Amino acid sequence: MNNIDQKAIELYDIYTVAVGGKAWDGAPLPCGKDFISDPTKQKQADGWRAVAAHVLGVAAPAEQRTYRIAIDIGHANGTGTRTNNADEHEEAVHNAAVLKSILESYQVDRFRFKVDIIDFPAETNTRDLNKTIKAINAGDYHAAVSLHCDSSSNVNARGAHCCYHRTYLADGYADSPRGKALASAIAARLCPIMPGRASKVQARPDRERNLSGLAILRETKMPTALVEVGFLSNNEDLKRIRALRYELMQAVALGIATYFYENP
Ligand SMILES: [Zn+2]
Repeated sequence: MNNIDQKAIELYDIYTVAVGGKAWDGAPLPCGKDFISDPTKQKQADGWRAVAAHVLGVAAPAEQRTYRIAIDIGHANGTGTRTNNADEHEEAVHNAAVLKSILESYQVDRFRFKVDIIDFPAETNTRDLNKTIKAINAGDYHAAVSLHCDSSSNVNARGAHCCYHRTYLADGYADSPRGKALASAIAARLCPIMPGRASKVQARPDRERNLSGLAILRETKMPTALVEVGFLSNNEDLKRIRALRYELMQAVALGIATYFYENP
């Protein structure tokens, strides 16, 4: 066994003790050794290996690139979804902090991340959106991710999905290839942990005006993905959003890293 795996096992076991030895649903967590060697948990194990490599101070290559990422906290305080004693802005604040710390801990290979969190909590929803778009476009970012949570009057609706920009033309449409790649890479990691949506990657058109319906995707210059982490209106999703926050944001971080590996 290599040093990274040994360290990953050690870190995972510390984490397991810290969370009381139980997963979000109360099931006992495996020990680090079993977890890392379980092929069905490959994606999560990869994340622990990345953290372990960082802790071990694996030497960075001489020509390492830094990618600047904007994380938008969806909506102003109290202006997003509020249901089930949960508030979309508040959940996004917690998610963004965890995502930033994970992304900035990656120093494993060809690149590292510098992350800014964009938040205008005291604004109205519209002013928050306008200021966010302006701030993202003014920054020299390589990608942006807008963090949200869903809600529905159907309490059984659940699961994560990711959205990207699509341009509508007179005779069809053209997807933003980088936006779609970013949304797809995040969804591929995140959706297995937050299952339930039939279409996990979406363009979300405004059919009346025949344009991409989400301004944060339409108006930003760099590849941007909007991430709906799960439904606050669904008890199971809400429980998972809170209990699995680290795993969920690790999945988003790995999705972003995968995107930059494939689209340097
Ligand atoms: Zn939202």
